[in-house]
Formats: sequence, C-alpha cells, structure tokens
Amino acid sequence: MTYKVPFVDPIKHYHRLKKQLFKTIDAALSRGDLVLRGQLKSFEKNLAKLVGTKYAVGVNSGYDALHMSIEAAGIGPGDEVITVAHTFMATISAICNHGAKPVLIDIGQDFNMNMDLVESAISARTKAIIPVHLNGRVCDMKRLMTIAKKHNLIVIEDAAQALSAKFRNKTAGSFGLAGCFSFYPFKMLGAYGDAGAVTTNNPQIAHKITLLRYNGEDRQTRKFYYHGYTALLDNLQAAILDLKLKYFPDWVQRRRQIAQHYHQGLSELPALTLPHFTDKKYFDVYQNYVIRVQNRDQLVKYLDKNGVETLISWRTPMYKQPSMQPNKIHLPETEKICCQVISLPMNTEITLTQVKYVTKTIRQFYQ
Ligand SMILES: *Cc1c(COP(=O)(O)O)cnc(C)c1O
Repeated sequence: MTYKVPFVDPIKHYHRLKKQLFKTIDAALSRGDLVLRGQLKSFEKNLAKLVGTKYAVGVNSGYDALHMSIEAAGIGPGDEVITVAHTFMATISAICNHGAKPVLIDIGQDFNMNMDLVESAISARTKAIIPVHLNGRVCDMKRLMTIAKKHNLIVIEDAAQALSAKFRNKTAGSFGLAGCFSFYPFKMLGAYGDAGAVTTNNPQIAHKITLLRYNGEDRQTRKFYYHGYTALLDNLQAAILDLKLKYFPDWVQRRRQIAQHYHQGLSELPALTLPHFTDKKYFDVYQNYVIRVQNRDQLVKYLDKNGVETLISWRTPMYKQPSMQPNKIHLPETEKICCQVISLPMNTEITLTQVKYVTKTIRQFYQ
C-alpha cells in the first residue's frame, strides 16, 4: 500500500539530488575512477573532519567497520567484550565472529548502555567495551572512558546511528580507539548500497584496517601483511557519500526540527514517553525518533490503517534470537523496551504537514 506518511522516502530523496548525483557518477565513470581513487580519499578526509579524528578508513559496511576494528585492536578468542543487547545484531556478531564473547548488559531510559552496570560486568577476561550510540544519541562517554581507563579496557564505538551526534561538544566516533559508522541506504548518511567507515586517531589502527579491507595488501610495498578481506568502500559509493556530506549538516538540523514538532504535537499524552532529554550536554541527531507507548501493537495497527508507516526495532532482545541460543541472559529494561518501542517516520523528506498528521492520528488513538 502507499502510505500518506511513509517511514522513509528514498524516491523523493533521489529526485531532490538527481542532477548532482548524475554529475558525480558520470565524472567518476568517465574517468575510470572505480577502485581506491580520489573520491574515496576525499570522502575519508571530509568524514574525519566531521567526526574530529585524524583518520577515517572507508569500508564495505558498518559490520565490516566493527569486525575489522575488533581484529585490528587484537580482540580474539578468550576475550570478553561488554556491549548491549538493544542494538542491531551486527554489533554482537562482529564480536562472536572473532571468537570473543559478548557480555550483554542492560540499557537506561535513553536506550543507551546503563553506565551503572558496566563495572560489575568486568571480569579478568574483559578486553573491551563497545558502547552503541543508538538512535542518534551518544552514550555518557565521560563515565565510560573513565571506567575503561581505570580497568585498562579498549573502547570501540558503534556509531552507526550517530554521525555528528555530540556529547560535551565531542563527536561520536572520536572518543574510543575506533568509531564505526554505517552508510547503509537508510542511515542518516546513506549510500546506494552497503558502505561504512572506521574513524580513529590511532595510526596503527588506521593502517591495519586499510590493509585488512584490501586483502591485507599494503598498496605502497605491494606486500601482503595479513589475511584480510575484500571489504573496501566502493569508489562510486564514496563519491555519492562525499556529495551527500555537503548537505548533511542541513539534514541534521532538519531532523532536529522534525523531532521538535513531534514533541510539540505529542508531549501532552501521558501514555507516551518521548525521546527528549533535557540534558544540554547532549546534541542528538535523531537517526530514529523512537517513542515508548502503551498499547503498542494496537497503536501500530491504527496508524497503519490511517496511512502512517512505522517500524519496531526490535520486537525481541537479540539474546532470544536463534543464533544466540541457548543462554540464560535476562535484561529487564531491554525486554520491557522491546514491548513498548515504536519508531515514527523520520527522514529529511517528511513535511511538517505530514508530521502534524502523524501526531493528530496518535492523539486520536488515545482519546
Ligand atoms: C546499521 C547498524 C550496524 C550495521 O551496519 P551495516 O552497514 O548494515 O553493516 C551496526 N550497528 C548499528 C547500531 C546499526 O544501526
């Protein structure tokens, strides 16, 4: 069915950028710029600048960014890595695929890692922590970095949903040893295929991932130093991302504005908890606008019937998925949130009239 308010609007987005996209793609293809060319280098330079790190290394996906950061950091069999269950499976799979053990802890009211629970999850085997900056909001990195320093642990940030989100004026992906980004088509900065990047201030990490992404080969010496992967950020996708990056700051402002309008239209409803946290230390970018509601499944049906498309991320905690069975993990807040969350339409194409329609429909449901 076609929705009055679709969850995302890739067609409208495409038509808005079509002319420049064609120019960008044509420029690359007419010059034969296919692999590891100037477009990739330019994007990496601009991304590093945005995040505030010395290096950015373009890779094939957010998952690749995570798993190669884990490998480059020397995390492997026997090591424990603390992270959350309320995340995309890729965060956890990246740990498991290197033979390490994910130690999942619960989240707080802002959907991010509950910092009160980190220290009690640390054991003699703990090697790293992977905080996930979910929905466009950075975790409390001051507390996390303090804990990590005290226990001598590596921090790798899953910043796949938090490009340009800030905490105390520092940008997601610039706190830990490495920051991992995804440019999956429906992320805030989306390619037309899979894409990702690692940001870091550490030259060894940047160098190792640069080799790992290209089968372990050092392009200068033409020697293979590692058994790596075919996981390079495609040059054409990099060209597209570099073009989109020019508009990105405006898109962030737009998302924040839409969030404000959702807030205005919904803040009176006691059945809802909105993702507005007054703490001025945080600059949220609203990759997703996720609310907690009563009677969630009925509300979803009602919105759908009235032409509003929504999404539920996620209906079950990751540790209940078949790939993670069996285990005895039980995280009360994570389980509660799975029954309450619903993501409202949030994208740069949505009009304020559409936002008003969504809030009106939700108010109608609760009246
Ligand atoms: C999207 C996402 C990933 C994985 O990114 P891909 O590019 O799809 O591999 C990892 N973690 C989080 C939190 C994400 O949202």
